[in-house]
Amino acid sequence: MKDGFEFLKNPVSGKWVVLAPKRAKRPKVAKSTEPICPFCPGHENLTPPEVYRVGKGGKNKPGWQIRVVPNKYPFAPIHEVIVDSPDHSKTFFDFKPIYIAKLFHVYRNRFRLLKEKGQVVIFYNYEVEAAATLPHPHAQLTVIPKKIQMDVTRSVTPENIIHETKFFTVFIPQASGWPYEVWFLPKERGREFGDITNEEIDNLAQLLSKALEKLEGQLGERFPFNFHIFHAGDWYLRLIPRTRVLGGFELATGVYVHSTSPKEAAKKLAW
Ligand SMILES: [Zn+2]
Repeated sequence: MKDGFEFLKNPVSGKWVVLAPKRAKRPKVAKSTEPICPFCPGHENLTPPEVYRVGKGGKNKPGWQIRVVPNKYPFAPIHEVIVDSPDHSKTFFDFKPIYIAKLFHVYRNRFRLLKEKGQVVIFYNYEVEAAATLPHPHAQLTVIPKKIQMDVTRSVTPENIIHETKFFTVFIPQASGWPYEVWFLPKERGREFGDITNEEIDNLAQLLSKALEKLEGQLGERFPFNFHIFHAGDWYLRLIPRTRVLGGFELATGVYVHSTSPKEAAKKLAW
């Protein structure tokens, strides 16, 4: 395990896992005892050298607006952190759509650059309940070797529609894995995320921002969430609120118990 991680296939289920024991050494950050934040401006020397930035300033110096650095505790051959902004406490709940669009431009740039190297998975953890280990908001990008078969839901036909535009359908799948999980499905199918157009990015940013606002009305302010961008053809973005914890039955069976039906949830979120 020279890289600090190893992909292993379960011979019975055929499912893959990643062993990454070094990740146990990640700093654990309790809110009241925050150590120096490696993602704040002025601390650029605390991360591995940056690979990309939006904004001003010299490499590995302050002045940036969005900063991309290799993850210090990778679990894949390429594993990057995309720091949202220099502001330690600003989140997706605060960003204007125009700023969210900037982030998605960075995601698209990195996706296009790295897609030849493997399967590019872009994901976001907000808050401890959603597995974020550092509080300074950031997305992550991993490139998973092509041989690793991932267990991901393929895109589905929209149902329980929350909102629709020229470019996207926003909806909750009838058999969704999580209560209030929201999908953003491009109208033009058959493409991968790297093909997203500027117009679509602008629209997606508005939709994501609005969906978060609507979800806050149901789940409380600044609820923990994950989102991920499907790595292959027929891409979509899936936003998953993490306001509940899985129970023993769900872990045992993979069958999720919902207290709100996707149909009802979609009605509450519709705009
Ligand atoms: Zn910070």
